[in-house]
Amino acid sequence: MRLVINWAASCGGCDVSLLDCREVVMSLAEHDVLYWPVALDFKQKDLKALEDKSMDFGIVNGAIRTSEQEEELKIVREKCKVLVAYGSCACFGGIPGLANQFDRESILRRAYVEAQSNLEGQEVIPKPETEIDGFQLTLPEFFDSVKPLDRVVKVDYYVPGCPPSSSTIEEFARSLSNPPERRFFASDKSLCHDCPRNQTKGAKKIAKINRPHELKADEECLLEQGELCMGFATRGGCGGRCISVNMPCRGCYGKLPAMVDVGDAISTIASITGNGEDYIPAPKIFDALNAVKDPVGLFYQFSLPSSLINSFSADRSK
Ligand code: SF4
Ligand code: SF4
Ligand code: SF4
Repeated sequence: MRLVINWAASCGGCDVSLLDCREVVMSLAEHDVLYWPVALDFKQKDLKALEDKSMDFGIVNGAIRTSEQEEELKIVREKCKVLVAYGSCACFGGIPGLANQFDRESILRRAYVEAQSNLEGQEVIPKPETEIDGFQLTLPEFFDSVKPLDRVVKVDYYVPGCPPSSSTIEEFARSLSNPPERRFFASDKSLCHDCPRNQTKGAKKIAKINRPHELKADEECLLEQGELCMGFATRGGCGGRCISVNMPCRGCYGKLPAMVDVGDAISTIASITGNGEDYIPAPKIFDALNAVKDPVGLFYQFSLPSSLINSFSADRSK
């Protein structure tokens, strides 16, 4: 296999997850990696020099925030027969996508002017044309919003997770020589389906919404204890990494295929809140939901850029 591995708006965790996986490291000796700037000193000219469609797989992690990332993604698409969105940022926009709640100017002001770590009197927002140590530089354009890869190019396979779990990566690595029909390297069933925690049969009910530090370490379903575990709305496949250490699922494997939008989970939470009453008046539901301190950060933690509410916000197509 001839591979290209690239990153965009990413924390680097996805690249580390590849190097952490024995199956991948062992298989690297069998493959030609022709471009992997995180691991070796490749330059964009090396990518451009590859012949179109001469690469078997392009594996890209991170979302698209800048014109440079968008340009590189389009080049990777040209050079590779198959393009893989690797990690939640690439698949859905991920954590960097939470910035889509704010416009470009607010983000730059927060980072370069208001952040407590800035030195007083040295708050400077970088300009597109800038001079550093006598060198004239043209910076990439900082787009007004973050996009998942498939808003820019065609994506053939999705490997979700923040980062993908080692079992998902192993399955993906094994399939390189024999790509499967399905496009998503995750279960079509919810994480609850495989959860080892005790669950009551039938509909779950939440009497009171709690926060993680208020929970006991036990073996009961976290959602039924009032912790907003998103396992019921999330594809399985991670092996329950968070719930096995008493932390609620936050949905990094993406919404279930049957859901229209990841925000559908809010309706589910509203419908199961209460003490098992058949009818709960709306003000009581709103009172209960007020306990959710950061609704966007909770329900859209990994998927805001690919959600419906993002499409309804101001035109940020750039
Ligand atoms: S998916 Fe998670 S680990 Fe991967 S780049 Fe995004 S934030 Fe980092
Ligand atoms: S809601 Fe969370 S804790 Fe409860 S069964 Fe589903 S995944 Fe497990
Ligand atoms: S439990 Fe949820 S948030 Fe944690 S790794 Fe699995 S899918 Fe991601």
